[in-house]
Amino acid sequence: MEYNNFINDEKIFGVLEHTQKADKSKIDEILTKALELKGISYDDVATLLNVTDEDTLEKLYNTALQIKETIYGNRLVLFAPLYVSNYCSNGCLYCGFRANNTELVRACLTPAEVEKETLAILDQGHKRMLMLMGENHKNCSLDYFIELINKVYSVRNSKGSNIRRVNVEIAPLTDEEFQRLSQVKIGTYTVFQETYHRETYKAMHPYGKKSEYDWRVFVMDRALRNGMNDVGLGALFGLYDYKYEVMGLISHARHLDQEYGVGPHTISFPRIQPAQNAPASHDLKHAVNDQEFKKIVAIVRLAVPYTGMIISTRESVAMRNQLIDMGVSQISAGSRTDVGGYEDEGKHSKDDGVGQFSLNDNRNCGEVIRDVMKAGFVPSFCTGCYRLGRVGADFMDMAKPGLIKLHCLPNALSTLEEYLVDYADEETKKIGEELIARELNDIPSPERRAQTIKYLDRIKKGERDLYF
Ligand code: SF4
Repeated sequence: MEYNNFINDEKIFGVLEHTQKADKSKIDEILTKALELKGISYDDVATLLNVTDEDTLEKLYNTALQIKETIYGNRLVLFAPLYVSNYCSNGCLYCGFRANNTELVRACLTPAEVEKETLAILDQGHKRMLMLMGENHKNCSLDYFIELINKVYSVRNSKGSNIRRVNVEIAPLTDEEFQRLSQVKIGTYTVFQETYHRETYKAMHPYGKKSEYDWRVFVMDRALRNGMNDVGLGALFGLYDYKYEVMGLISHARHLDQEYGVGPHTISFPRIQPAQNAPASHDLKHAVNDQEFKKIVAIVRLAVPYTGMIISTRESVAMRNQLIDMGVSQISAGSRTDVGGYEDEGKHSKDDGVGQFSLNDNRNCGEVIRDVMKAGFVPSFCTGCYRLGRVGADFMDMAKPGLIKLHCLPNALSTLEEYLVDYADEETKKIGEELIARELNDIPSPERRAQTIKYLDRIKKGERDLYF
């Protein structure tokens, strides 16, 4: 199968070179244009990447937040990752799961263990899960992974809560495997390219299937041609020049949008963190500092306004708080990245370095929810779109013009109410109920507001899972 190559080194280096000296009026023009929600040009992305002065960056951050609020409102979606296997046959030099890491205790969870992990995640209040495994089909096959997805969906905790949407982050699949996965109820399929720079990719992935750049870079073409609806992109910042990686991500997003009418449902922003026996995670040639990282996140919001933007617990509490103020729309909360880590709590210390990478936000889900509400955002456990079939191009038709937020806020409020009734302590309940009362006024349609108030009332009386 032939795919269009969308990474063009000459074009990327050329545009980064010729956009170095933009004046302030040019940048103001780009920021104003971005508010039209149609994205910005390739040249404009490069121009913004070359900005360094603080005043202009502040304007950029404010524009990014404004765009996120126009598309999605002020809800912030929460999820929990579940690592089911850390067997891996690749040698990625920055990852703690790499095959050479002989100190890592390897495990692939049994269905009974997955049940326990799911219960521990549900008891934090989560409804949305990201399921992951290393690339090693001998120890954890795709069929087995699918069995575990179904297991997750079957689990209910003592409150009657269940996981309503499983997103998946596993190694690139073949056409036939995607067709099989598409028969299972999953939300978004995610793969990080890690680096779009071919030479760096080669150096960082010395062996294993992952060493094949083309196999990975065209994974989303295979996915979308073989039944997947929603795909998620990401680059691992710190492997190569961040400006190049952003241009790569934007090129990828445009390519998918142009070829399939479906841009990336999500884009993730992992920044390399130290990992056990992973030499490249301790010796970064292209470390991205905090200012650069914030700039990256904000620019992607301007360039791909409709996409869900994800920040994990790799980042510190302080950095995550800043990033939700500049366009991030989803965060993980109360995460464990070691296999069996939720149920195992207490056997390992909170950050013992045995996960895929080390964590910098160790708050539990309740603490995250409280902090998010205090910052004026509405924590959301919504899974409405995927369950009502608002996926793929249909989702894009609503997200691109900013219509999706008509669903997002009501669903954020109803899922927050469920959380407050079932899982919150008294202080959180008080903060949450006050927030809900305020936010109801922001639902623009009187009919939708009235319906949401009815839903909230029914939830307080014991009903669950009411959504638009
Ligand atoms: S309504 Fe759709 S886009 Fe909005 S939070 Fe729910 S699932 Fe996400």
